[in-house]
Amino acid sequence: MAKTYDVAVIGAGPGGYVAAIRAAQLGLSTVCIDGWKNAKGKPSLGGTCLNVGCIPSKALLESSENYERAQHKFADHGIEVTGLSLDIGKMQARKSKIVDTFTTGISLLFKKNKVDSMHGMGRFVGTGDGGYRIEVAGDGTPEVIEAKHVVIATGSLPRPMPGVTVDNKIVCDNIGALSFGEVPKRLGVIGAGVIGVEMGSVWRRLGADVTILEALPTFLAAADEQVAKEAFRQFTGPLGVKIYTGAKVASVTTGKSSVTVEYADREGVRHVTEFDRLVVAIGRVPNTAGLNAESVGLKLDARGYVEVDDHCATNLPNVYAVGDAVRGPMLAHKSSEEGVAVAETIAGQAGHVNLDTIPWVIYTAPEIAWVGRTEQELKAAGVAYNAGQFPFIASGRARALGETAGFVKMLADATTDRILGVHIIGPFASELIGEAVVAMEFGATSEDIARIVHAHPSLSEAVHEAALGVGKRAIHI
Ligand code: FAD
Ligand code: AMP
Repeated sequence: MAKTYDVAVIGAGPGGYVAAIRAAQLGLSTVCIDGWKNAKGKPSLGGTCLNVGCIPSKALLESSENYERAQHKFADHGIEVTGLSLDIGKMQARKSKIVDTFTTGISLLFKKNKVDSMHGMGRFVGTGDGGYRIEVAGDGTPEVIEAKHVVIATGSLPRPMPGVTVDNKIVCDNIGALSFGEVPKRLGVIGAGVIGVEMGSVWRRLGADVTILEALPTFLAAADEQVAKEAFRQFTGPLGVKIYTGAKVASVTTGKSSVTVEYADREGVRHVTEFDRLVVAIGRVPNTAGLNAESVGLKLDARGYVEVDDHCATNLPNVYAVGDAVRGPMLAHKSSEEGVAVAETIAGQAGHVNLDTIPWVIYTAPEIAWVGRTEQELKAAGVAYNAGQFPFIASGRARALGETAGFVKMLADATTDRILGVHIIGPFASELIGEAVVAMEFGATSEDIARIVHAHPSLSEAVHEAALGVGKRAIHI
């Protein structure tokens, strides 16, 4: 007889493992099924985020930024560094240790919360007395379990580029780009999205000559236009990355130790450029092909996303889907919050995620973070708004840090003063955005933030001044 659970979660990324822990906390018998294997061929929980996404990329971003600081910024503080050298092996080992600590940590959290963990790929194989039947194909003979409720959290995969084979040696996706054993002299990146600019930043700071080719005529199209413009200025100026927007890649030809990319620039002029390594980062697609969705009539849309309503419910009773496998931004925290909401819904509580206040962060230097609507979105929707802006160059803390590029911009409804969006480019934007998210969730006005005391000297004063700026009463500019 198949083992029966209240809840089966398919996928142990930040959506799935969090859903499983929350379901178990609520007293539901829970199994989490995950097929990920790491580079050593070992099962490794945590999905894309922990294994080849958020965590390793942030480790390398920090390491490479430290190298950049030691090379170019310490001198300003009167700190002379001589004999600076780079040990990529050690840097990569540090990254791997961080990843291992967190992935094994999830196994411990599963044990602590009494979540059963099964390694293998899960797929629907019909229904039985205990609910949905799911076959788990791991290293041995496939097993079948049954569950009353199913949470699909199978995440996403890199979007393949037609005609381009990723070997993760010369032509890489995020997996290869996070694992180079040496700094490529010439690095090409196709796609100037979040992953492209983060990976480009890491390897540029470590010494690579980086060229990013972006098909769209604009840079960071999802961000506020003013932020995107400042980011472009910073990345192509002080950082020294070459970014070509409106570039149409015609062919990618992989050789023994290099790769040749043929592309037309925005004027239509043809270029043929050789790179030592190429990173293809043209977006991600939902990973739902292995679910055998048709066997139970689970509805996927034309692009392969599991169709869900506002509460992550699919077309099948008691089947939910969360994270990168469904609509909405492909962000780890969005996946996790949907995982919590779904577990609470299954337990009879009221789970809900407000997609309008999901913070976005790009961990470049300067960092970029925003929540809510951009100025161009408000203009297009005909919403009247007031804007307040404060540059970090006028912040005492930013000056002390030596990180003065960028600004905070707050947008508030012209009639109600309710905050509609906050856009930050500058130091620790990833941390500063938290205040804006809380404010928006609480329906705060710019006046509310303007009247709250912010510590001095702190970067958060820039958020305060931007709020004051909405009412044209900023003090320090
Ligand atoms: P995933 O993390 O993709 O996990 C899905 C899991 O399900 C995987 O382990 C997969 O193997 C498994 N699986 C799939 N199908 C099956 C099946 N049939 N049976 C069993 N198991 C299955 N987001 C941020 O918020 N911040 C960041 O800084 C950030 N940085 C990133 C950097 C990079 C380089 C990349 C690639 C992504 C980054 N992301 C970041 C995005 C983030 O990683 C994803 O949004 C997040 O991992 C999605 O979580 P998930 O649980 O939906 O899916
Ligand atoms: P993201 O969705 O943030 O991962 O970003 C992916 C980026 O790749 C987006 O800016 C896309 O416009 C860009 N992109 C998609 N297809 C191509 C392509 N063929 N060539 C260059 N850039 C592309």
